[in-house]
Amino acid sequence: MPMKPKKRTYNTRRIRLGASYSVQEVSKLFGVHKNAVLKWVKDGLSPIDKHRPYLLYGRDLAAYLNTKQGNRKHKCKPDEFFCFKCRVPRRPWGNLVDIVIRNEIRLNLSALCGACGTVMNRAGAARKLSEYQKIFTAQSKRDERITACPSPSVTCDIGKDAARDELHP
Ligand SMILES: [Zn+2]
Repeated sequence: MPMKPKKRTYNTRRIRLGASYSVQEVSKLFGVHKNAVLKWVKDGLSPIDKHRPYLLYGRDLAAYLNTKQGNRKHKCKPDEFFCFKCRVPRRPWGNLVDIVIRNEIRLNLSALCGACGTVMNRAGAARKLSEYQKIFTAQSKRDERITACPSPSVTCDIGKDAARDELHP
């Protein structure tokens, strides 16, 4: 790499959360090289599936960039999310989070800002699932893994969701 790229801030408000983007579209949207986008994928931004050409959910892209940018300037505590409206780390409203398991490695957490009610997103490690469930009240949990889970113990742990009974009485 001849020049170290300057750290820049991406305006994630330009991302349509309900849309999906190709790598090319993302590179156009932010005026970055395609390789930069591919680097994000390597770095943990999950594509819709693993086949190239990659497609990225707007929601994931925004969450990824928000986390990336949020972590740079503000260190969130384990029970905090970065709120992009308040521009500071915030506790979730009612300590409630939604958990989406993306794959064996990653999951996404989303919550509403305790101060302003804006949706806040955070990427997390799938292996820390039980940790998150201790910190937060899991309002919902969705497993988006497409392929059958090769490890039955993982599936089993997910089944032991303490919050589930409260959610579906
Ligand atoms: Zn807020």
